[in-house]
Amino acid sequence: MADFQIEDLRVSVEGREILKGISLGIDKGEVHAVMGPNGSGKSTLSHTLMGHPNYKVLGGRVLFKDRNLLEMPTEQRARLGVFLALQYPVVVPGITMSNFLRTALNAKRGYDGKDKSKAIAPKEFRALLKSEMGVLHMDDSFLSRYVNEGFSGGEKKRAEILQMAVLKPEIAILDETDSGLDIDSIKFVSEGVNRMRGPELGILLITHYTRILEFVRPDFVHVLVDGQFVLSGGPEVAAALEKTGYAEWVKEPQAAAQEA
Ligand code: ADP
Ligand code: MG
Repeated sequence: MADFQIEDLRVSVEGREILKGISLGIDKGEVHAVMGPNGSGKSTLSHTLMGHPNYKVLGGRVLFKDRNLLEMPTEQRARLGVFLALQYPVVVPGITMSNFLRTALNAKRGYDGKDKSKAIAPKEFRALLKSEMGVLHMDDSFLSRYVNEGFSGGEKKRAEILQMAVLKPEIAILDETDSGLDIDSIKFVSEGVNRMRGPELGILLITHYTRILEFVRPDFVHVLVDGQFVLSGGPEVAAALEKTGYAEWVKEPQAAAQEA
C-alpha cells in the first residue's frame, strides 16, 4: 500500500460517469505524471481528490494516513496535508494574497483566532514569503493585490505554487500548472516545484503536454483516456507520447480537433 492510495475510483459529473475505475499509488518522494487528452477526466480526478461538491463519487476509496479521504470535508483534507493547484485559479476580490496565504497557513497550523502561539510570527512569515517569491520571480507587489485579480496566466500559476510552498503539503496535485504558460514561466514554476521535491512530498503532476516533464522529471507516467488509465510506466512513456501524441487512443475526429 502506497502512502497515498487511490483505489478503483469511479466518479460522475452531472449524471455522466467520467472516471471509470482509477487506481494509483503515490509514495512520498515520488512524482507521478498523469497525462491525457482534453476531456479525459484529469481535472475530474483532481477536483474529486480535493472534495469538490459537483463530482459525485460512485465507488472506490482514497487512503491517506489510514483514512479515507473521500469521507472528509475539503478543509480536513488540506489540514491532513493534501494540496491542489487548480487548473483555473479563482479570483477572490477583496482578499489580498498576503492575507489569504497567512490565513491559510494559520488554519493549517491549527490557529483558530484564540491561541496566538499557533499563529506564525509576522517576521517568520515575511521571511518565508520572501525566499519562495524569489524562486518564483514574483515581486512584493503581489502580496498587496487581491487573490488572482488581474493576474496573467503565468502569475496565477505561480501564485498557486507559492501557496504550495507556504502550506508545505505532503501530497500535491498540480492540475495543468504548465498550461498556457510561456517557457520562462514554466521554468520558474518548475524551479519552485523542484525546490520542494524530496522524501516528504509526493506529487501528482497532471499535464496535457510533455514539456513541463523536461523540467520536473517524473518517476512514473500514467496515460488517462476516457476515464481510465490505458498505459503506465516510467519517463519513457512521456517520451513516446511526445512523438505520437494521443492518436493511438483518440480516434474520433471531434476529440482530435478538440485536442488541437
Ligand atoms: P480534463 O481535465 O482531462 O480536460 P475534465 O475532467 O475537465 O477533463 O472533464 C472530463 C469530462 O467531464 C468532460 O467531458 C467535461 O465536459 C465533463 N465535466 C467536467 N466537469 C464538469 C462540470 N462541472 N459539469 C459538466 N460536465 C463536466
Ligand atoms: Mg483539466
